[in-house]
Amino acid sequence: MKCLVLGNWKSNGDAAALKTFLADFAPVKRALIDGYRTGLAVPYHLIAAGDFGSAWVGAQNVSAFQPGAFTGEISAQMLTDMGTNFGLVGHSERRHLMGESVAQTRDKLANLKENQVYPILCVGETLDERKQGRLHEILLEQLAALDVFGTADAFAVAYEPVWAIGTGVAATAADVAEAHRFLRTTLQERGYGHVPLMYGGSVKPANAAELAAIDDVHGFLVGGASLDAATFADIDRLFLEAKGL
Ligand code: PEP
Repeated sequence: MKCLVLGNWKSNGDAAALKTFLADFAPVKRALIDGYRTGLAVPYHLIAAGDFGSAWVGAQNVSAFQPGAFTGEISAQMLTDMGTNFGLVGHSERRHLMGESVAQTRDKLANLKENQVYPILCVGETLDERKQGRLHEILLEQLAALDVFGTADAFAVAYEPVWAIGTGVAATAADVAEAHRFLRTTLQERGYGHVPLMYGGSVKPANAAELAAIDDVHGFLVGGASLDAATFADIDRLFLEAKGL
């Protein structure tokens, strides 16, 4: 995949909301553009609850364990069984609210890869870390989990500064360009030059075109604004227009 515009419903939504969303979401019915996908990471119970058409359906998390005596865990095998196309790993809400470690993100990525669910690693710094000048250090720390991948593996990285998630305050285009340039260079050095880099953090129709115009931005991960089909479709359209797709 070269470009991805994906939504993340977090712990929101029910079967009725998904039905309404899928009925209203125009891109689902559109012909596929080569190398591009739109889609939605829904709560587990909705993964197999709707017809996503040409859009991808994703999970917001996955177990770090293999199937077995791990009560309450949803394994990557189970995601495959439900028809899941992609899985988010290391979302900041999991790192900061659930205490997820780099070692756990590594195991989760490996499990997705083994089970042919497209992995997306989310990385990003807190405001304090940014103020302390530790942006690159934090990104490198979190990128360490990518060592489960070979240079031919398909996966994506989403840069999501913690201070921009759910706050309504997106990073400036300059901030995003700088972080993505660093990520691009780092990934290239490791043989992952083919990996798409998504941006996430208060993306909305008002800022989508400006952020999509940045060369090293190959997609968006959209939280709050993906709950409404028309708003999300607008973001998707603005992204495609900016990229000339
Ligand atoms: C997210 O949950 O990944 C996210 C980017 O949220 P929001 O768009 O609401 O900031």
